[in-house]
Amino acid sequence: MFQYILKNSSMFYFSLLILVVLLSSCSQFDSKSRSSKSSSLKSSTFNSTIPKNNVKMDLIKLSKHVYYVQGASGVATENEGYISNAAAIITNKGVVIFDALGTPSLAVLFLEKIRTITNQPIVKVIVSHYHADHIYGLSVFKELGAEIIAPLGYSDYLDLPIANQRLEERRISLAPWVNETTKILRPDTVIETKTNFALGGVDFEINYLGRAHSDGDLTLLIKQDKVLLSGDLIFEGRIPFTGSANTKHWLELLEQIDNSSLHALLPGHGAVAKDPNSAIKQTLNYLKTVRSKMQFAVDEMMTFDEAYDSVDWSEFEDIPAFKSAHRINVFGIYLSLEEESME
Ligand SMILES: [Zn+2]
Repeated sequence: MFQYILKNSSMFYFSLLILVVLLSSCSQFDSKSRSSKSSSLKSSTFNSTIPKNNVKMDLIKLSKHVYYVQGASGVATENEGYISNAAAIITNKGVVIFDALGTPSLAVLFLEKIRTITNQPIVKVIVSHYHADHIYGLSVFKELGAEIIAPLGYSDYLDLPIANQRLEERRISLAPWVNETTKILRPDTVIETKTNFALGGVDFEINYLGRAHSDGDLTLLIKQDKVLLSGDLIFEGRIPFTGSANTKHWLELLEQIDNSSLHALLPGHGAVAKDPNSAIKQTLNYLKTVRSKMQFAVDEMMTFDEAYDSVDWSEFEDIPAFKSAHRINVFGIYLSLEEESME
């Protein structure tokens, strides 16, 4: 009896041992396959220096070829810097990216999302304009061999102290996602006029806009899909960020955009506009209103504080980012109108 129990229990321990060995080799295999999968998604250098985000990012299909991710509506340092949009146009000869998000970590996450639907190489990254929230992820795509394309005027941002000051500031305010290894890359190709190209049977039209929202802006039209990627020329569902914009030229451009045949418009911030007309009108109305109120103030030689307080801004108060962006916008526009009046 005792021998029987001994025999059975040793068999039991033997099977347990086999089971443990099997399980551990399984999990080893599993983690190996997982790591080889993730290293095929990312270049080896990404893993060590680029920390992982905790944000939720969904890749959304907009049209036959266009997919996008949409940042939150907050200020630049909220949501781990995920406050701007980016798009991927998938063709059977490669992927074109539009804007590179506000940190390398976000770009890696975006790339991972793209890799769930295609293994096509990333061939181009087209940048709507050189502002921190659209360019800090560029290095991720550059490492994969993508050509960086940006509008003329990018260097007015890049060659001024503001570019480095902003980077230094973001290394603190967006730590650890913006850190010592985060670099601002120059474009390989500079756009200074309307430029067409085709890839994998998809026709692209890059429209160079000159100085509008920034020192140089462009939009990208995906012709077959009738989708316009507008960068920060149009803000949907939030107060625009006008910074050092040339709002005069910006307004002229918005008035000229032919949106009659568009299927959809993806702004640089905020939701896709299924009704491009109304999205354009919102940004147009905001710029027009602020400019006309401040023009009056400049003509009357009011101080900025007097001018700001004399206007009823309640029509914009409920729009996201009003608190963080509006007064600064009005101040910038007030200054630029003073300058315009001296021209
Ligand atoms: Zn932006």
